Amino acid sequence: MKILVSGGAGFLGSFLIDRLINDGHEITVIDDFSTVKYRALPEKVNLIKGKIEDVQINDKFDYVVHLAARPSPEDYIQHPVETAMSNSMGTYKMLEITRKSDAVMVYTSSSEVYGSAEIIPTPETYWGKVNPIGIRSCYDESKRFSEALILSYYREYGLDVRIQRPFNVYGPRLREDGSYGRVVSRFIYQALKGDDITIFGDGSQTRAFLYVDDWVEATTKIMFIKGLKGEVFNVGSNKEMKIVDLANLILNMTGSKSRIKFLPPRPDDPPRRAADITKVREKLGWEPKVPVEEGLKKTIDWFKQVIS
Ligand code: UDP
Repeated sequence: MKILVSGGAGFLGSFLIDRLINDGHEITVIDDFSTVKYRALPEKVNLIKGKIEDVQINDKFDYVVHLAARPSPEDYIQHPVETAMSNSMGTYKMLEITRKSDAVMVYTSSSEVYGSAEIIPTPETYWGKVNPIGIRSCYDESKRFSEALILSYYREYGLDVRIQRPFNVYGPRLREDGSYGRVVSRFIYQALKGDDITIFGDGSQTRAFLYVDDWVEATTKIMFIKGLKGEVFNVGSNKEMKIVDLANLILNMTGSKSRIKFLPPRPDDPPRRAADITKVREKLGWEPKVPVEEGLKKTIDWFKQVIS
């Protein structure tokens, strides 16, 4: 199959492409490398370097996987306009490419569309509790708008679109630094370096972490299973973990002498997050397989290599 992957050079994209290339597909990637630190694209990939909002493509594809986004909570604060625009205009561009190709589109939305959810674990049917003018709204609302636009293309043009909402995916190749670092990679890096582990707030907030191999497996199912037109899926774990417990687990697993430092909480930080996986179990026959200790071990081993 001919597959276009936007944001294919990033953390999630690079793992998905390894799998798709291995399965014999022909891959084209659009990426501006704006958030990419660890480059891991196979040579076989056709690369279009540029912003998805500006790119001109005339080729036709069987599948379009739209991953490109500014993904980091700290990014929302530093680059809110770019976050809002790339996450919304970028989706429009990808939809137009999909429409001209009459392709299947898989959109990587976010569990962030649920905001500070009142139902945990959260099912796909929950509408979300999002502050439309809060500091995270450039991200949350652009993802929500993208979902609305995608479903509009489905309703008006009958396009075969599928939406997934990933929940805190982690693994090797995740950035650990500066404004892009997500909690797992930041804590591992801090632990290995002997730096303070920075917890925002008191660490009682929860997340449910999903190892990247599980995410790849779910994504290929969402792409290739027939009859999923217009469907939305949580791709996440239902095992909630406190951030302070994650910090202690990483300290134990690395044998680090780092100390935990409590910083002021992030504004609008969702207090709890976990996925209701009833629908993915039933419709995709998928559920997370990699226990968090095993995924963390693989991630820690990888970080030991890149930072030594
Ligand atoms: N977090 C933290 N210290 C860090 C980075 C993140 O305590 O150095 C917390 C953050 O406040 C949030 C959780 O870890 O409650 C997950 O943050 P992340 O940025 O990975 O993604 P989010 O789930 O907020 O999109």
